[in-house]
Amino acid sequence: MGSLWLASAGNYALWQQVHQLPEVNGLRGLAFTLGFGLIITCALTSLLSLFNWGKLLKPVLTVFFFSAASGAYFMMSYGIVIDSTMITNVIQTDTKEALDLFNWRMLVSFAILGLLPAWVLWKTPLKSLRVGQQLLGNALMAVLSIGILLASLLAVFQDFSSIMRNHTQLRYLINPLNSYYAIGMVAAKPFQRDNKTLLPVGQDAKLVTAKATDKPPLILLVLGETARMGNFGLNGYDRNTTPELSKENTVSLRGVMSCGTSTATSVPCMFSHLGKEDFESRKNNYESLIDVLHHAGLALLWIDNQSGCKGVCERVPQALTKELKHPSFCKGGECFDEIMLHQLDERIQALPAERRAKGVVVVMHQMGSHGPAYYKRVPDNFKKFQPECKSNALQECSREQVVNSFDNTILYTDHFLSQAIQWLKKSNATHATAMLYVSDHGESLGENNLYLHGLPYRVAPDVQKRVPWISWWSQQFETQTGLSSACLKKKTNAPLTHDNYFHSVLGMVGVSTEVYQAKLDVHADCRTPS
Ligand SMILES: [Zn+2]
Repeated sequence: MGSLWLASAGNYALWQQVHQLPEVNGLRGLAFTLGFGLIITCALTSLLSLFNWGKLLKPVLTVFFFSAASGAYFMMSYGIVIDSTMITNVIQTDTKEALDLFNWRMLVSFAILGLLPAWVLWKTPLKSLRVGQQLLGNALMAVLSIGILLASLLAVFQDFSSIMRNHTQLRYLINPLNSYYAIGMVAAKPFQRDNKTLLPVGQDAKLVTAKATDKPPLILLVLGETARMGNFGLNGYDRNTTPELSKENTVSLRGVMSCGTSTATSVPCMFSHLGKEDFESRKNNYESLIDVLHHAGLALLWIDNQSGCKGVCERVPQALTKELKHPSFCKGGECFDEIMLHQLDERIQALPAERRAKGVVVVMHQMGSHGPAYYKRVPDNFKKFQPECKSNALQECSREQVVNSFDNTILYTDHFLSQAIQWLKKSNATHATAMLYVSDHGESLGENNLYLHGLPYRVAPDVQKRVPWISWWSQQFETQTGLSSACLKKKTNAPLTHDNYFHSVLGMVGVSTEVYQAKLDVHADCRTPS
């Protein structure tokens, strides 16, 4: 009965998707659905027969009910699926982010899908058997359910194999087995990789020799959050979401694809020299871009207005805005992005003087457009697009409201980046200043009932993978590096990825090292040799 409940009600999200598939129709579609349902029921029954021992069964089944309930809620509400990336995100989420997701729909869904069957279960008396009898009973149950599973699979095999191949996302929707499989994958990862050692990268790094007229570089790297490329006015969006940046001499590249579809996968990958493919299959952990810049003798500062730097900035000075309690920028333990510009000069002055003399690189990790509570990311005077969605249950709002509140976050990011440029300009007399803004991944805003991000890369829609990449260079910076923004503008639609980030930043800052690859540096052929 427990397996039947899980396979039916607990898999509501799966059945809804199956129902919408064009190839599932008529009697044959019904037969496929029944067969698929039997396969899941029997898989669960055979798994549960392992746990059918006296007082063990009820707690185990209760865990199954509640994991199915939470999986079903998130899959239904946001169109997400549960894979190992999603489990990594769950582990790395802080309580603040988790509370953002909490709402009454979630409680109702937990009550119906978790509490109700658990209540029935705990009210049902279980007969206790002798060990031998129990073993025999469990073995029979396992054999029988595997038998029915195989028979059902054979009966619908043709449809089953083609549908599962054409709609790979279905396998991530099978509740709660998807969660357990994903947890197993995450748990197994550390064994495939040596996590105890951190291999050095670019220890030979050094700054290219400066001419007498050169000024030390002051580079700002802004790491964006959940900003989607197409929603920037600069990128041709029909709404002017970037009024302030469009007044600056910026170059915005539109052809950039992210490494992952979540912060936890994209950020470490962006800052790695390996590139997406090698990064995902790496056997060792390596130092990051931040370490390479540090090896080159530069002063580094990582300012975080997010859930941390995911391991890429551990060996350089960091400032966490969470610890600040600024009266106008922060409320409820969360700050607007402009907080990162607050007392910035003092923070830089505190870095080692001999490093500062060579140059400074500041990284700002934004809160940006982090959902689902977009409305919380934006001060009131930047909520230009109305009506906005004031709920974290995005499906309660109209699509227009969801898009409005998301666009307000871009409008505020535009203001934040412009403020950052004004701050850089103040140092133009003493430094060669430049900024590079790149987001970690995009976002779904209700297209095909998908919200947020984090779908497995292969099945994620482009809006979750296309990210903005915006550069601003001062005149002094262009003169002394020989880089030309006019040349970079010609690459507006060039196909690029996060794999280009590591090498483009090294090229931009002027660091030479054996790990640098000019062919991945988007700036390499925009430099006139001096
Ligand atoms: Zn992110």
